Amino acid sequence: MIIDLINKKRLKGAFCEEEIQYMIQSYMNGMITDYQMSSLLMAICINGMTEDETYYLTKAFIQSGRQLDLHVLGEALVDKHSTGGVGDKVTFIVLPLVAACDVKVAKMSGRGLGYTGGTIDKFESIEGFRVELNNDEFMKQMTEIGCAITTSSADLVPADKKIYALRDVTGTVASIPLIASSIMSKKIAMGSKKIVLDVKVGRGAFFENIGDAEQLAQTMILIGKRFGVKVKVILSTMDSPLGYAVGNGLEVKEAIQLLKNQGSSSLKELSIEMASQMVALGKEIKIEDARNMVLDALTSGKALLKFMELIQYQGGNINHIAETSNKTDIYASKRGYIVDIDARKIAEIVLDLGAGRRKKEDSIDYGVGILFHKQIGDFIQEGDLLVTIYGHTNKNVLDAIYFGESRTNIKPIIYKIIE
Ligand code: URA
Repeated sequence: MIIDLINKKRLKGAFCEEEIQYMIQSYMNGMITDYQMSSLLMAICINGMTEDETYYLTKAFIQSGRQLDLHVLGEALVDKHSTGGVGDKVTFIVLPLVAACDVKVAKMSGRGLGYTGGTIDKFESIEGFRVELNNDEFMKQMTEIGCAITTSSADLVPADKKIYALRDVTGTVASIPLIASSIMSKKIAMGSKKIVLDVKVGRGAFFENIGDAEQLAQTMILIGKRFGVKVKVILSTMDSPLGYAVGNGLEVKEAIQLLKNQGSSSLKELSIEMASQMVALGKEIKIEDARNMVLDALTSGKALLKFMELIQYQGGNINHIAETSNKTDIYASKRGYIVDIDARKIAEIVLDLGAGRRKKEDSIDYGVGILFHKQIGDFIQEGDLLVTIYGHTNKNVLDAIYFGESRTNIKPIIYKIIE
């Protein structure tokens, strides 16, 4: 009985595999109601889950739907995932970088909800780009060009889809076992055997505390081990937006600049590290050798060509990326160093501009967003151009940018790598 399970978790008990199978199957066939499941999820949020419980939950999620078999694509196949942040366009850079090093990347991504942007929305800002590939199209493209991106299909981990929607509206997202099982079940059901995860920490991420983020990383590594999947985790900072652009079309343009080896140093550092870890895992080579290959793919222009190939293959027109003509330049009203930019406040402004969804059914404006002309650590004179706002908002972007008398220690973009 569900009521027994709720009480058990309320009293800090641990579920056995049969109880977790019952919980997922009964919720999927309607025997457990949304309000009962919400209560159980809240008890899990507060009292946690053991490693065994988290593994059983991941397994039950996977078994709720179809599983893909990607073994025909060979061993040199890797996947990536980011827990989500503000201005995170790393997938755009890493996919072609890794594929240009002859390691395949089969990527399924989601749309954005709330303040973090969704990779699929960003790809849709490219005119004509098809984000929904069927299985045959996906596999054909993977075989021919070594990379593809699609929305996740409805029959892959349907239990996570139903439970995630409920968590989103019941304050039950921020739970380590629930996040770990949700992410890992989708990766494993997709057939991924080698995964590099970017777990973000900071005020623009799920966890502000490094200890929680590290625990999430360790949990996902342990789940991976129990399924025979190799997982590496990059713990990265998400206090300030990643790179100069936030907003769908603007972020795609920034990613293209980076593939031309120009632009934000922190975005480049994180992208190169992510791609190098993926290539090292995919080819089973030393990280230094992988890094050299990735840097060569970037500087030789091979990765940019691969990106163009990907966009063209999925029907996109790279010369038509959404950008609104309604722009406002914002100038500095004082002098000093930029010491901080608040990712959370920027995300709220960009959401207000219409770049994201507050509710699932909201439509989005692909051409709006914010483009920074300066970054943390830069010295600003009064009257310098700081930011261009694409679209209209009543919010003041200057409220999110903090000035100081001296150049502060800039936080490294990567905290540590865990495997
Ligand atoms: N991303 C997911 O896919 N699931 C979560 O629970 C959190 C982030």
